[in-house]
Amino acid sequence: MTRMTGFYSDEWTFWHSVGLQALFLPIGGYVQPPSGAAGADTPDSKRRLWSLLKTSGLMERLAVAGPAKVDNADLIRVHTQRYIDEFKEVSAAGGGDIGDFAPFSAGGFDIARISAGLAKAAISDVTTGKVARAYALCRPAGHHCLADRSMGFCVLANIPIAIEAARADHGLGKVAILDWDVHHGNGTQSIYYERGDTLTISIHQENCFPPGYSGVEDRGEGDGGGANINIALPPGAGDAAYLSSIDTIVLPALERFRPDLIVIASGLDAGAADPMARMLVHSETFRAMTQRMVDAADRLCSGRLVIVHEGGYSEASVPFLGLAIVEALSGERTDVVDPTLAIFQAQQPGPETTAFQLQWVDRLAHIFAT
Ligand code: ZN
Repeated sequence: MTRMTGFYSDEWTFWHSVGLQALFLPIGGYVQPPSGAAGADTPDSKRRLWSLLKTSGLMERLAVAGPAKVDNADLIRVHTQRYIDEFKEVSAAGGGDIGDFAPFSAGGFDIARISAGLAKAAISDVTTGKVARAYALCRPAGHHCLADRSMGFCVLANIPIAIEAARADHGLGKVAILDWDVHHGNGTQSIYYERGDTLTISIHQENCFPPGYSGVEDRGEGDGGGANINIALPPGAGDAAYLSSIDTIVLPALERFRPDLIVIASGLDAGAADPMARMLVHSETFRAMTQRMVDAADRLCSGRLVIVHEGGYSEASVPFLGLAIVEALSGERTDVVDPTLAIFQAQQPGPETTAFQLQWVDRLAHIFAT
C-alpha cells in the first residue's frame, strides 16, 4: 500500500491571540484602535486553508493527525530553562510579550506547545516511516524565535524542537531546512549556526524582517561553517527569481549536503497579496517549488520531506497558496482553480526587471557554489 501524506493540525492553534493590533503594531499612542480585525497575525489565513483543504476534498486523502503537545524535555533541548519558565509564568498571569513583536494572550504557552507538538509529530512520523511526507499547520509560527527570546510572532522554535526530538527519540541524522517564508529565518539560523549536522537555507526579501538584515555573509561558524545560506532577494521578486534560486542555489546545496530529512519552513508571505512584504509569488510558484523539493527528497533521502507552516497574512490568498503546496506534497489534485492566479501571473516583472533579478540570483549562486 502506498504510504500517505500526513496532515497535522489542531483547533487550539487557531485560538492563539496576539491581542488587538494594527498590522503588527500594538494599539496605543497614535496607533488608533481598529473597529475590526486589523492585525496581521489573525487565525483566519490558516483556518481558511484548513477549510479549503476540507471543502476541496483533499483532507480526506491525507492521514489526518493531532492533537499533540511538546513537554519540557522537548523544549529544553532548544530553549533555555529561564526562557521556558518566564514564558510559562507570563502566560499564566494573563499574557504579554517577552521578546520583540511576539505577544501572546492568557494560555499562550499551552497553545504554543501544541503548535510545536504538531511539527514534532510530523517529523517523528516521517522519520519512522509511518507516513511518506507530512504537513504541519502550526500556529504560532516558529522561525524567528531564538533559544532565549521570542520574536516576530514566534514564541517557540517549532522546527528545531521537532528535529531535536526526532534525533533523541529516533536517531534522526542530518537535516536540511529550507525556509521560504519571506522574512529571514533568523531563529533557526542562530540555533544551528555552529552545527554541521543541520543545513539552514533561508530565501527572503532583503532587509524585510528583522529590519536591516539580509545575512548573505553569514555562512555559519565552527562545525557549522558553510552550513548556513541566506538568499536575500530584492523586493518585487516573483516566479522566475524564486525558481532560479531553488535550481541554482538550493538544489546544489542539498546535493552537496546529502540530508537524511528535508524540512521546509513554509511561510506564505512571499505571496503577491501579502500585507507584510513586497514579493510577487503566486500559487504555481509554490506548487513548482514544492514539486522540486519532493523530487529532491526522493533522490536524496528516501522521500522524507516535512513542511511546517510559518507566516502568511493574506486571509484571502493564503488558502490557495497552501492548497497548491499540499497538492504537490501529496501528489493529489483537486478541482479547485486559484481565482487569483491569472492576475498575479500578469503582475510578474517584465523582461528587464526579470533579467536584473536573475543576475542577482546568479551572483549569489557564485557566492554559495562552494
Ligand atoms: Zn514571515
